[in-house]
Amino acid sequence: RLVSLEGGEGAGKSTALAAVRDLLLSRGHEVVLTREPGGTPLAERIRELLLARSAPGQDVAEPLHPQTELLLMFAARAQHVAEVVRPALERGAFVVSDRFTDSSYAYQGAGRGLDPAWIGDLERRTVGLRPGLTLLLDLDVREGRARTSGRDLWPDRIESEQDEFFERVRRGFRQRAGAEPERFALIDAAQPRQAAGGALPPQAVGRDVA
Ligand code: C5P
Repeated sequence: RLVSLEGGEGAGKSTALAAVRDLLLSRGHEVVLTREPGGTPLAERIRELLLARSAPGQDVAEPLHPQTELLLMFAARAQHVAEVVRPALERGAFVVSDRFTDSSYAYQGAGRGLDPAWIGDLERRTVGLRPGLTLLLDLDVREGRARTSGRDLWPDRIESEQDEFFERVRRGFRQRAGAEPERFALIDAAQPRQAAGGALPPQAVGRDVA
């Protein structure tokens, strides 16, 4: 009953998230909509720390090391799982999460080069569960950048460096989908924003969540 949405920048996760929620609600389920990093007041504060450097003018003075980033992600996730995800699943609700542990494998693992075995260890010790269904919104990196041109994600990096990073992230996500095809539904997010959300959930979600 845990459904996660994953994807790179500008893939249209918000639209898809709302569509999944509406589908489950229309079937009479309780739905808890949440996100990572974040999802609890404390975890949202960790999110602010993590994203501070991507907000123009608010960059923290020192660099955020990949290891620090990974541990903060898992600090937020441990809190989120304990406070929100597990209690909701235990009372029979569906939990629909905008990002979950796969994002750490893709961003901190494939993107920043941290050892996936370490991430796996953190996952086992602090999360201990995986989604039953993960919708991966897959999108060309340049197309994603064009869609998020308003959000200056990495003001300190030149465009080609950003693209290389996001290419690694995209490959990381696709590898995970390839390794667990029964869990993942790979969605081509190259459709216009409006269409992407509307088109995917009935078929994709119906499979596991009916
Ligand atoms: O999902 P959303 O776009 O709100 O994520 C916020 C930012 O956090 C994104 O820019 C994403 O690249 C980054 N992120 C990350 N590592 C994660 C999750 C998100 O770098 N594990």
